[in-house]
Amino acid sequence: MRATTTLVSRGSPLASGAQQLQVLQRLELADFSETLSPAGIEIFQINVGKLCNMTCRHCHVDAGPERTAEMMSRETVDLCLAALDRTAAGTVDITGGAPELNPHFRYLVDQCVARGKRVIDRCNLTVLLTGPCRDLPEWFAQRGVEIVCSLPHYRKRNTDLQRGDGTFDKSIEALRRLNAVGYGRGDPRLRLVLMHNPVGAFLSGDQKSMEREWKQGLAANHGVTFDALISLNNMPISRFLEWLEASGNLQEYMERLVNAYNPATLPGLMCRNTISVGWDGRLYDCDFNQMLELEARSLGGAALHIRDFDPARLRERPIVTGRHCFGCTAGAGSSCGGAVAA
Ligand code: SF4
Ligand code: SF4
Repeated sequence: MRATTTLVSRGSPLASGAQQLQVLQRLELADFSETLSPAGIEIFQINVGKLCNMTCRHCHVDAGPERTAEMMSRETVDLCLAALDRTAAGTVDITGGAPELNPHFRYLVDQCVARGKRVIDRCNLTVLLTGPCRDLPEWFAQRGVEIVCSLPHYRKRNTDLQRGDGTFDKSIEALRRLNAVGYGRGDPRLRLVLMHNPVGAFLSGDQKSMEREWKQGLAANHGVTFDALISLNNMPISRFLEWLEASGNLQEYMERLVNAYNPATLPGLMCRNTISVGWDGRLYDCDFNQMLELEARSLGGAALHIRDFDPARLRERPIVTGRHCFGCTAGAGSSCGGAVAA
């Protein structure tokens, strides 16, 4: 199976967040009617751009190799650091695209480490085999950066179906390199987390039992170890939304999410303890709203930007929701940290 191409490069209407929202709104479906309020910023998430060395079918960012225009500048990185200093956030979660491809990535990591933050790099694994990133496993280990790696499945066929032929073998090679410098062996300073999402129109399975199965499968077949597995539902956004529509699965998948709605997920939703910064400095309640271009808004309705960062104003804001929120609240729930309810 080959990987796909970006919606933007194909001129697809679904490249627009507004168009994606319209597609979801046209469905015969209950609306997401919960009112969500922020509970204080614990995680400062920075999306440094849409550039990626891959073009996976399920990508909710519509990332790809030609997306060089959407790249966080050094000036915006510095605005993020100044804003970070005005919060009590203990964690900085750096994502993309492939965040390692941003030229200011190492500067950002070093600045966050110097501030004593827990730094998470959301890594697609294969990027660690590309030229300028080959030294990153050692570089990360020296700084104690936590690596959260996306790997759709521990079986080759399932992973390559979603990410493109050859991805699994490269991912295993990257995991071996991380293991070789001490990641994934139980050292809390060198934490290696795998992130799973279903390869198809169904919900994530039980995180704990999958973790056991994956640990056995990867150790027995590839000699690879990791510390924890988190599982995420695929969000009905961007290229996964396109696939759902094209394959005739959209209505059924959304009904599955709505029917599995679980109010116990509400307190743990990531939009409640995270602020998400876009590559151009715009602020969002979460990475998913970011991809739908649903900006975080003040109580008065003004769109918010990192240059005017004001924690008190953010605390008052209502979180922007929509039908895509059923993706986070179905079953055990789903967030950048995995399941959110038992
Ligand atoms: S899912 Fe991740 S690795 Fe795949 S194209 Fe999107 S950002 Fe890149
Ligand atoms: S998509 Fe999820 S994290 Fe984002 S606002 Fe909706 S429920 Fe919250």
